[in-house]
Amino acid sequence: MPLLEVEDLRVAYGKIEAVKGISFQVEAGEVVTLIGTNGAGKTTTLRTLSGLLKPLAGKIIFDGVPLLGVPAHKIVAMGMAHSPEGRRIFPRLSIEENLKLGAFLRKDEQAITGDIQRAYDLFPILGERRRQAAGTLSGGEQQMLAMGRALMSRPKLLMLDEPSMGLSPIMMQKIMSTIRELKADGTTILLVEQNAQAALSLADHGHVMEIGKISLSGTGEELMHDESVRKAYLGED
Ligand code: ATP
Repeated sequence: MPLLEVEDLRVAYGKIEAVKGISFQVEAGEVVTLIGTNGAGKTTTLRTLSGLLKPLAGKIIFDGVPLLGVPAHKIVAMGMAHSPEGRRIFPRLSIEENLKLGAFLRKDEQAITGDIQRAYDLFPILGERRRQAAGTLSGGEQQMLAMGRALMSRPKLLMLDEPSMGLSPIMMQKIMSTIRELKADGTTILLVEQNAQAALSLADHGHVMEIGKISLSGTGEELMHDESVRKAYLGED
């Protein structure tokens, strides 16, 4: 049984249908990516999976449980964590306080301390600045903090919305190599990216979204070599 099954999902803002019947699955241990241009419906899909938006129709089954009607905080408790687009860290709280908020449903203090250390091992800069206000971090560092915070709930599924957005090439490589490390540790990841090259190079499976639909699916490798993907998303003529 896949960890996540999405079937014929449709989501609208008023009369505008942003997601028009998409289906895909994520197996435990996989990295699956949704790629596509601005406005294709990727963020809307993640927000719906997290319980932040109500779908018009369709099925979402997570870890064997249908999610429709389940509130967002219960979905987090079931093991789905979302690192949103634009990061949404708390700028006035310290880095360590931001990380602790990611563990707000947990009571195992010792393990939480261990997981904070793990976030510092993944991203040493966060450890060096643990007492500083998170708002003083650069964009790339805030992205690291958002990922670290999402991991603090020990998710079965980690959803990352455009982790490379606005980052320098070096920062982007750092984020991508961290995603590789997390995958090697067995974390299951659903990755939304506009940077198709980076996302496909580490994904087991990928889906191309275009105006609310999945237009093409395959392994990361297949999509990276697909001619239409290369033309549309990898900047080739
Ligand atoms: P991006 O990379 O820009 O986030 P995306 O693929 O994630 O792109 P969505 O943000 O899911 O796309 O947007 C899908 C469609 O829904 C777009 O046409 C967008 O304008 C529309 N949309 C998104 N949020 C809202 C909203 N709050 N109200 C109305 N329409 C919205």
